[in-house]
Amino acid sequence: MMRMEVGHASALRPGAQALNSDTEGSPTSRDGEQRHAGALRQTGHMLPSLPDMLSSARVVTLPLRQRFRGIESREVMLFEGPAGWTEFSPFLEYGDAEASAWLAAAIDFGWHQAPALFRILDRFLGCRTVKVKVAEPGQRLADDVARVVAVRQYLGPEGRIRLDANGGWNVDEAEHAIHALAPSDLEYVEQPCATVDELADIRTRVKYMGLPIAADESVRKAEDPLEVATAKAADLLVIKAQPLGGIRASLRIVDAARLPVVVSSALETSVGISMGAHLAAAIPELAYDCGLATVSLLSSDIAADSLVADRGLVDVRRVTPDAALLARFSADADRVEWWNARLERCLVLLSTP
Ligand SMILES: [Mg+2]
Repeated sequence: MMRMEVGHASALRPGAQALNSDTEGSPTSRDGEQRHAGALRQTGHMLPSLPDMLSSARVVTLPLRQRFRGIESREVMLFEGPAGWTEFSPFLEYGDAEASAWLAAAIDFGWHQAPALFRILDRFLGCRTVKVKVAEPGQRLADDVARVVAVRQYLGPEGRIRLDANGGWNVDEAEHAIHALAPSDLEYVEQPCATVDELADIRTRVKYMGLPIAADESVRKAEDPLEVATAKAADLLVIKAQPLGGIRASLRIVDAARLPVVVSSALETSVGISMGAHLAAAIPELAYDCGLATVSLLSSDIAADSLVADRGLVDVRRVTPDAALLARFSADADRVEWWNARLERCLVLLSTP
């Protein structure tokens, strides 16, 4: 079975909050043992009350298989906090100052959720590429910068970050934003502006930065999907099987465009992702990771064996929906009627030369 490298872990939306600034402060207290406890206090996190902690506390004594570091059994205290079970287990001989750092860790793990953005990215473990949505209405450039900086912090220097503005900037705004965002080391910027002319303009303006410009809407929504390539308005194309009319139609565009492509998805179920994975498998050379790991953005899929990324890879295989899941998520009758009518109209259009 083939497995395609999938690129972006998720199309991160602004709803995914950037790091809470209160997690970033570096502890400065002079006492090493108290450093973490001090850090916890400095974060402004409320400490749980003693009765709250005692209400779920369990102390267990676990015999060791053999004597280890001078002890024959290990005593630990466990608590259940709002974020899940957590452990407080400083060794018995440790003083309170030293042990309180361990308590800070236990409280942090049990009572405080990881930053929302990190919780989202944790669903895509093993993916090395993240696409971040920027330029959304209601978001300021500072919000976009903070989100991208947080993603870089999460991924480390080897992760790849690509941005997608969905045509949300004019050329001047795009230039300004790209300058502000580029220090996070970007792989490319997708559809920074709406029109092909604007794309050509911004591409020229940022060429000296070595930052590629990708076209998405200018390919899949355009009368002529090749116009953007012909106009030299993009360095690479985003290719999506459904909007381009299927795998074979997409392959013809890839062939004619003579530009690197990114095979991407459109927030589909595993059945649609399977189409994208088959398209990706049919392209001889993929210079960029695919953007097919989006099933995890849905709260449920319709297949039992979902095409979710496993350590950054998505299988290339057909997917059969699960009857129970189809029944569970079955749309209301009026929505089914709407889709039936849409199907009929589109079928007529397809059969009209
Ligand atoms: Mg896009």
